[in-house]
Amino acid sequence: MQQVTLKDKTFVPYITADRISASVRQLADRINHDLAHEFPLFLVVLNGSFMFAADLLKEVSIPCELSFIKLASYHGTSSSGSVTELIGLTEEIKGRTVVVVEDIVDTGVTIEKLVAVLHKKEVKAVRIASFLLKPEAYKKSIPLNYVGIEIPNEFVVGYGLDYDGLGRNLKDVFVLKK
Ligand code: 5GP
Ligand code: MG
Repeated sequence: MQQVTLKDKTFVPYITADRISASVRQLADRINHDLAHEFPLFLVVLNGSFMFAADLLKEVSIPCELSFIKLASYHGTSSSGSVTELIGLTEEIKGRTVVVVEDIVDTGVTIEKLVAVLHKKEVKAVRIASFLLKPEAYKKSIPLNYVGIEIPNEFVVGYGLDYDGLGRNLKDVFVLKK
């Protein structure tokens, strides 16, 4: 594995594709065990989690459904604060066990907003599956049920994660060179 340069930054190999697949298979095993009778709806948060979601769901063998969403925040005209909206959700999710599929949880701000929206829609339960987690940065109390690999507080690309739109297609994870 060689280092890669994306625009002005250089990244060095960090997590191999083999280690990624081993970790993804373990997550799928746990999900298959835990949610066998829940008929979960997997909500894949685009764009970053497309590769993780594809690999994970190939190993998920229980009855389930799958939907793809994007998050958008906008500032309302009269109300204060930003509103998080789910784009692309067509399924009725009331009463469902929802598994959010994320590429990475950093501070947790994104996941906290998303979980709040899901609870407003009266889901039965929310589970979080995140390929990566930065435990030193995570400041929220939402339980992260299925975490693939914990990493230090550094910027990574590859396996769906981008730097300025680049690097999503890399099959390994790379970290910013110091
Ligand atoms: P949070 O809201 O948890 O702070 O951040 C979540 C989002 O920040 C992720 O979905 C991702 O888009 C971005 N992010 C956080 N850390 C990284 C990283 O190391 N690399 C890349 N490419 N994106 C990151
Ligand atoms: Mg994400």
